[in-house]
Amino acid sequence: MQRYDILVVGAGPAGSSAAREAAKAGCRVLMVEKKMRIGLPVQCAEYIARLLLAESRISSDSVIQGIDSMVTHLPDGGTAVTRSPGYMIDRAAFDRELAASAQDVGAEVLVNTRCVSRSDAGVLLKRGGEKIVVASRVIIGADGARSTVGEWMGSTNEDFITGLQYALPLKEPLENTEVYFRQELFGGYGWLFPKGGVANVGIGVKRRSVAGASESMQMMLDAFANQLESAGRVRNVPVSVTGGSIPVGGPLASVKGDMMLVGDAAGQTDAITGGGVPQAVICGRMAGKAAARAVLEDDTDILMDYEREWQGLYGRALRNALEKRHLLESRWGELESAIKKYWVAFEGHCDARTR
Ligand SMILES: Cc1cc2nc3c(=O)[nH]c(=O)nc-3n(C[C@H](O)[C@H](O)[C@H](O)COP(=O)(O)OP(=O)(O)OC[C@H]3O[C@@H](n4cnc5c(N)ncnc54)[C@H](O)[C@@H]3O)c2cc1C
Repeated sequence: MQRYDILVVGAGPAGSSAAREAAKAGCRVLMVEKKMRIGLPVQCAEYIARLLLAESRISSDSVIQGIDSMVTHLPDGGTAVTRSPGYMIDRAAFDRELAASAQDVGAEVLVNTRCVSRSDAGVLLKRGGEKIVVASRVIIGADGARSTVGEWMGSTNEDFITGLQYALPLKEPLENTEVYFRQELFGGYGWLFPKGGVANVGIGVKRRSVAGASESMQMMLDAFANQLESAGRVRNVPVSVTGGSIPVGGPLASVKGDMMLVGDAAGQTDAITGGGVPQAVICGRMAGKAAARAVLEDDTDILMDYEREWQGLYGRALRNALEKRHLLESRWGELESAIKKYWVAFEGHCDARTR
C-alpha cells in the first residue's frame, strides 16, 4: 500500500491546479489521470478570458490567437457584438503545462491510471492490468462532469449539455468568436471559434431523449457546418472530431468527510455559456490549499473553508446562470426574445451592439 497526504483524481485544469498548491504547501501528493496523455483528446472549444491566462501563469506556447469580441447570431439573422477579450488556446498544451507545474513542485503524476473504487483498504487504482491501492488523508475529485469521487460522496451532476465539435479549415482568418442560436439546438448553441487557420465548429444540445441521440447530434453538426460552408466561412472537411458532456445543473455540495470536488465534478461550470476552465483553475487552487491545511493541521473540518471560499467567489454567479438557463429552456419556443433576455451578450443590455 502506498501512502500519500492527498490523492487528486483527474489531471485537467482543476486537478493540476489543486495538486500544485497542495504540493507547494509541503504535502505528499499523487495525481492520477485515466487518459494515456494529459489533455488528449481535447474536449473543449478552447476559448478562455484574457484575465485567466495572466492568472494561470501559462506560457505563450499554449496560446493560438487573441480574441476581441463575441458575435451572437440570433435566429432571425440579426447579430449582436459584445466585447469579449480573451484567447484561443491549445487546450492540450495548456493542460500539460498545468500538470508539469504541479510536478515541478513535487506532485507525483500517474497517467493511464483510473481511479476505480474506495474501501476501508484504501482507493483502488487500475493502471493497465496492474492494481494499485493507495491510502490518502484527503481525496480531491477533479475527475470531470461524470465524477467517480462525486458518486462516492452522493454529489453528482444530473443535467448535461452534449457537445460535438469539428476542427474545420477557415476560409478567412477571424478575430471574434461566434455563437449561433437555432431552434433545433435545444438548450445550447452552435459555435465558430477561430484557431489560426482552422476553427472549432461545434454544437451543444440538451438531449431530450437518448434514442438515436448521437446520430442526430452528428446530423445537426453536419447541417451547421454545411450552413457555415455555404456562407463562405469554412470548408466542411473535418480535421478532427471531438465531443463531451458539459454539466449545466449548477453547483454541487463539494465537501464530505475527507473528500472534495472541484471543477466540472463540483458543477462549477457556467450553466449558460458552458465555460468552466477559469473556475476549474481558480477553485482548484482553493481546493489544494484547503486540503494542504487540513493535512498539516490534521483537521478535515478545514475542508469546508474551501466550500465557503469558492461559493463566496462564484456561487452567486453560478446560481444566477442556472436560473437563466431554466428560464431560457422554458421559453425556447420564443427563442429570439428569450436570448435577448438571458444570453450573456445581452446582460444588462448595455455593452451589446446589435445590428
Ligand atoms: C465540447 C466542449 C466545449 C467546451 N468549451 C469550453 C470553452 O471554450 N471554454 C471553457 O472555459 N470551457 C469549455 N468547456 C468546459 C471545460 O472544458 C471544462 O469546464 C473544464 O475542462 C473543466 O476542467 P476539470 O479539470 O474540472 O475537468 P476535465 O478537464 O474534464 O478533467 C477531468 C480529468 O479527469 C480524468 N478522469 C475522469 N475520471 C477519472 C478516473 N476515474 N480516474 C482518473 N482520471 C479520471 C479525465 O480523463 C480528465 O482528464 C467545454 C466543454 C466541452 C465538453
